[in-house]
Amino acid sequence: MNLQLDLLEKAAREKRLAHLLLFHGGSEQHQRAVALRFAQLLNCRQPTAEGPCQKCYACHKIISGNHPDVSWMKPLKTTIGIEQVLGWQQKVYLKHYEGNYKVFIIEQADSLTLPAANGLLKVIEEPPERTVIILCAHNAEGILPTIQSRAQLVYFPDLSEDNWLNGLGEVDQQEAALAFHLSGKNQSLATAILEYGVPLVKEWVTKFRIIVEERNFLKLFSLFPIDKNQATLYLQVMEVQAQEGISEGSNHPVELLALGKAMAVLRQQVNPRLVIEVLALELFQQGGDFCD
Ligand SMILES: [Zn+2]
Repeated sequence: MNLQLDLLEKAAREKRLAHLLLFHGGSEQHQRAVALRFAQLLNCRQPTAEGPCQKCYACHKIISGNHPDVSWMKPLKTTIGIEQVLGWQQKVYLKHYEGNYKVFIIEQADSLTLPAANGLLKVIEEPPERTVIILCAHNAEGILPTIQSRAQLVYFPDLSEDNWLNGLGEVDQQEAALAFHLSGKNQSLATAILEYGVPLVKEWVTKFRIIVEERNFLKLFSLFPIDKNQATLYLQVMEVQAQEGISEGSNHPVELLALGKAMAVLRQQVNPRLVIEVLALELFQQGGDFCD
C-alpha cells in the first residue's frame, strides 16, 4: 500500500522507531489508526506476522484507551496551551508503568501555541528512553521548524491521491504528490502536470505571477515559446491556485474571472502567446495585489 508506512511498521515491530514522528496530510482518522497500530506493535505481548495480536492484555488496553503507557493529547479548546503541555511533560518523565514503550500521541499538533511548542521542544531535546512521540497534524508547515527538523516526517496521502498514485506505476512519488497538490486534487490535471514535469510548471507559473506583480511587460518574453497544451495546463494550475486563494480569503475573484476568459479564448485561438499577453495586461490593470 504505502511504502513509507510499511517501512515504519517494520521499524515499530523491530523496536527501532524514531523518537519523534510527525504525521501530516490525509485524514485524522487514518493518522489516528496508524498511531494506534504503532503503539500496539511496540507493546504487544505476542505479535504475529500480520501485526499486533489484538488478543493480549496490552493490545486490549491500548484499543480501549486505558493503557497507562499510551496517552493521547488534543486541544482542550481551539489550541493546545502551555498548561496542557506542562501537565503532559510530567507524565512523559514518569517511570514506565507496564508497557515496553511509552507512546504519546498529540492530535492537532498544528494547534500548539508558541509557548506550548517550546515546552514540547524541551522534552524532544531530552527524550526519555523507550519513548515515542507522535505529532498528528493536517499541515506540517503549522509545526515549529525547530520541532519539524527533529522529527521524522510521515506523509499521509488522501484516498483519491492514494488511488491515483498506485495507478501510476514507476514514478517519483514525491513529484507525483506535488503534481496532485498543484492540480487541486484533479487526477487528469495531475497526470498532465506530471508529464510536463512539476518543476517546469511551477517555474512558469511563479514567473508569470512575479511579472504580473511587477507589471513588467518586457519580462513576458521570457515565458515563451509555449504551445497551446502547455498554455492550457499553466492556466489550469493558476485557476486552481486562484480558487484556493479565494476560499482562504487571500485572493479576489477578478483573477479567476480573467483566467476563465483566457481559457475560453485559448480554446478558439491558435496563438497561445497572444492569450497569455492579453491576460497579463488585464491583470496589470486590476493591480497585482491578488498575486500572493
Ligand atoms: Zn497483542
